[in-house]
Amino acid sequence: MAEESYDEECDYLFKAVLIGDSAVGKSNLLSRFSRDEFRLDSKPTIGVDFAYRSVRVADKTIKAQIWDTAGQERFRAITSSYYRGALGALLIYDITRRTTFENIKKWLSELRGFSNPDTVVIVLVGNKSDLRQSREVEEEEGQSLAESEGLYFLETSALENQNVEEAFLSMIGRIHEVLTQKIA
Ligand code: GDP
Ligand code: MG
Repeated sequence: MAEESYDEECDYLFKAVLIGDSAVGKSNLLSRFSRDEFRLDSKPTIGVDFAYRSVRVADKTIKAQIWDTAGQERFRAITSSYYRGALGALLIYDITRRTTFENIKKWLSELRGFSNPDTVVIVLVGNKSDLRQSREVEEEEGQSLAESEGLYFLETSALENQNVEEAFLSMIGRIHEVLTQKIA
């Protein structure tokens, strides 16, 4: 997939964020979505990183600027500026590490505290679905948490490129709906 330049024309440009514990696969999901790459040796860098991807929805070009924590989540040092202005989020856990699922509620309350909780579009993502033998969180548990919190839900594999497009595109599509409802 070709990387697109910053000033390419688009009808909407918005910010979305990736959140979740360290090593759940945030950076690999983002590189899959933005560059179709998977990195086995991915090492966390400190700071904030982001990538763009343009998608067509209806007859509009929507450009998503997706922010990645780039290692800061290890110290729970994500500041309000990371969340500021975000219209959507992928809230990610690792299906093979139960603690990452248990921490979802903390991430969710932080996200809701720093963004507009009434309009922010949140997709709960259980990543590493390829690691069937080491599963610690059942798909039904993710589904039921999502239902009780009013989130969308998907299991993904960045490694096998399963449901990655779907996760990002479901978020982008809902954001488009929110934006067009506001403007109309
Ligand atoms: P981050 O800290 O949340 O950004 O996570 P990374 O993207 O750096 O991934 C952490 C580790 O999990 C790396 O060793 C990745 O290779 C691995 N990983 C990420 N996604 C998957 C996946 O879908 N399946 C498997 N088996 N490993 C993954
Ligand atoms: Mg990372």
